[in-house]
Amino acid sequence: MLKANGRLFLIDCGEGCQQQMRRCHFSFVKIEAIFISHTHGDHVFGLFGLLNSMAMYGRAVPLHIYGPQPLGNILAFYRNYFTDADSFEIVYHPLSMKAPELIHTSKHLTVTAFPLQHKIAAFGFRFDEIVTERHRLENPAYRGKSYAYCADTMPFPELPEWVRGVDLLYHEATYLDEMADKAAARYHSTTKQAAQCALEAGAKKLVVAHYSSRITDFDAYLRECTEVFPETVAATDCQVFEI
Ligand SMILES: [Zn+2]
Ligand SMILES: [Zn+2]
Repeated sequence: MLKANGRLFLIDCGEGCQQQMRRCHFSFVKIEAIFISHTHGDHVFGLFGLLNSMAMYGRAVPLHIYGPQPLGNILAFYRNYFTDADSFEIVYHPLSMKAPELIHTSKHLTVTAFPLQHKIAAFGFRFDEIVTERHRLENPAYRGKSYAYCADTMPFPELPEWVRGVDLLYHEATYLDEMADKAAARYHSTTKQAAQCALEAGAKKLVVAHYSSRITDFDAYLRECTEVFPETVAATDCQVFEI
């Protein structure tokens, strides 16, 4: 979840998302838009229950959802069967870009989507704060804050360029370095590959997660990342980062 000027932007929605949102005191009502990276279950299974809850809580304003093309069909199917969700409009924006593209402009930020390299079509998202006159008056050198989210992907040369200079980079690190073969076979990244992306991108801080359920030595994730990129945090559930 990205919170900017009181507005919420949900990025991926795995199973249990509603419970985690309650734990973190995020209101369903304040979600302005939802960005789904790809249609693997761990990124989308929570979406349908969440939409239903939004309807129950009386959401009336349209909800913009961005994601790969197949999710549009899944949402249409869902809406045919679960009519509770009819109380508000879902505006679905299918993504198919081959290079970064501006997809959403909000009052305080812009959102750019870019393709990742995963087993199925997958997209990353970059959020850039819009610098206003008020920012410049307060500080002429003010630079907008930025956050990029790189969900499931294997490394590829353009990615650091597309997330260049972000204040906070989320990058998956499913496997440890010794499992690089497995990572490549499954279109995922290792700790060191995630850290290398942050380094090449000139990111200020890296957050990794999406750990393989087979690995129990969580300290190893942080250890390996920080060898390449010291400003790394190996995230745990409900952790909060100020940008
Ligand atoms: Zn995943
Ligand atoms: Zn995946």
